[in-house]
Amino acid sequence: MGKVKKGVKCSIEGCEEKAVRSLSTEMYLKAFPNAKLAKGGRIYLCRKHYKEFKREWRKIKKYEQPWRLT
Ligand SMILES: [Zn+2]
Repeated sequence: MGKVKKGVKCSIEGCEEKAVRSLSTEMYLKAFPNAKLAKGGRIYLCRKHYKEFKREWRKIKKYEQPWRLT
């Protein structure tokens, strides 16, 4: 989980919002297996898409060890 430099846009197709968070594409693909992303490297998410990711991620992690996303 990392902060994002200014001027970086959300990596989600069709989204022009500025990115607030970055994470590995692997993590994102766990939450959204159908996302059209190249594996490896990092993905940048805007506030809205990061929220969506967090929601899905929590569902996945519910039955695994607790994992904090802050
Ligand atoms: Zn976005």
